[in-house]
Amino acid sequence: MQTPTPGRQPGLRRRTAAWRSRTLAGAAAATAGHDLRSHLRLGRKGLAIGVDIGGTKVAAGVVDAEGRILSQAKRSTPGNDPRAVEQVIVELVGELGAGHRIWSVGIGAAGWMDLDGGTVLFSPHLAWRNEPLRENLQRLLRRPVLLTNDADAAAWAEWRFGAGQGQNRLVCITLGTGIGGAMVMDGRLERGRFGVAGEFGHQIIMPGGHRCECGNRGCWEQYASGNALGREARELAAANSPVAQELLKAVDGDVGRITGVIVTELAKAGDQTSRELLEDVGEWLGLGLANLAAALDPGKFVIGGGLCDAGELLVAPARKAFARNLTGRGFRPAAEIELAALGPNAGLIGAADLSRVSSRMHTQ
Ligand SMILES: [Zn+2]
Repeated sequence: MQTPTPGRQPGLRRRTAAWRSRTLAGAAAATAGHDLRSHLRLGRKGLAIGVDIGGTKVAAGVVDAEGRILSQAKRSTPGNDPRAVEQVIVELVGELGAGHRIWSVGIGAAGWMDLDGGTVLFSPHLAWRNEPLRENLQRLLRRPVLLTNDADAAAWAEWRFGAGQGQNRLVCITLGTGIGGAMVMDGRLERGRFGVAGEFGHQIIMPGGHRCECGNRGCWEQYASGNALGREARELAAANSPVAQELLKAVDGDVGRITGVIVTELAKAGDQTSRELLEDVGEWLGLGLANLAAALDPGKFVIGGGLCDAGELLVAPARKAFARNLTGRGFRPAAEIELAALGPNAGLIGAADLSRVSSRMHTQ
């Protein structure tokens, strides 16, 4: 792959079109490949920039072929204007790219991307609706660009460099305000027929239960996420229960300020009530994982996201509930449940690596 010469727009257009057609060929080759990594062209070295677009901040980093971050930069997410978000990406890539030879750029964001990695179909936090973001960015950045869902990017990073290495059926769960889900099967992301698979957080686990942002009631993410932890703690504190004294003390009696992060901190410091609240969330987590195991039979679940700061306080009750609810328990091997290894940078590492690996696939 050659980086187009700046200022030569017609040549750039021809090459952009060529990347696109090779993307399809590369995707087909990846689908056909049964070896875990044989389709990835891992022998070639190169740097890529990963950009993780969150609701409040845009984080970017230069990532090498071993998944190491060489340099990093951050900006605030600029509201709802798609052009302003593009401009922030261009600034970050310009800043980080100085002094490095950058092969490609991977963009990870909450939302649904088309299977080709070119168009954002829908993004909940940003104003992207059928946005041809890759074409816009390739024109501005003069490099191959790949768009990916943030949960897919994090799962890819864990499979390549983290807790999911060596797994040929891996399911990753990201626990934050909601629940993100992604699968790496036989060395490729499994994204479904239309690219929108992995919405495990919206499996209905309690019919008629808490209302979810998606419009339904009783979704898993209303019971097993950071938001769920905060809501349960606020409810307990609002009842002015004597067991909620530590929680109330932590927010000077202002119940509305209690969040999942505060509960997690108190639990780690030894507060029994906060530990029980985390245990409840862990049990919901394990129950949902048992449902997923019944459908998908993975070898391992990797659990990442902010709520994982709770560590074993969350995962130990999840393992117990998983073992208790797994269909066919006692007569089948059970998937392992492990904490993610890469922390909050998994998304940008995965987006960078996917763009690097797939831009190489385009050049076959
Ligand atoms: Zn939902």
